Amino acid sequence: MGEGEQPGEDDEDRRYATQQAGTQLGEVRNQTQVNVHKRIVVMDLSEDRSEPRVFINPEFEPLTDEMEQYQEGCLSVPGFYENVDRPQKVKVKALDRDGKPYELIAEGLLAVCIQHECDHLNGKLFVDYLSNLKRDRIKKKLEKLHRQNA
Ligand SMILES: [Zn+2]
Repeated sequence: MGEGEQPGEDDEDRRYATQQAGTQLGEVRNQTQVNVHKRIVVMDLSEDRSEPRVFINPEFEPLTDEMEQYQEGCLSVPGFYENVDRPQKVKVKALDRDGKPYELIAEGLLAVCIQHECDHLNGKLFVDYLSNLKRDRIKKKLEKLHRQNA
């Protein structure tokens, strides 16, 4: 998906996009060096995977009350895709790869991805946005899968 291009309305597109966002595109690293605690997200939303964006210690704040719904998936919860509402526009503050602070206004898919990945850094998964009922159902299925693969 190109810069500034909005994700398609097509459900398959959205599903694919956020599936990618939750897996290959988003990569979370918790790095601890000597007295330096860095939380790094590397994300590449470009079509040819040539524009990795680096977010060190990212934080975001919503810029709108308007919510947008995407079907999200995640490596941490393999095989499950659920609709999640998130603010559709956020301001992201982070350090770049040289440690210089920068700000970015993110909308659409990028906004979804950065929120998803920031959540990871805070130990939160997209299933935490779902109803208890849905979350429990997913948990049970995952536990069953783990037992089968054990
Ligand atoms: Zn994820």
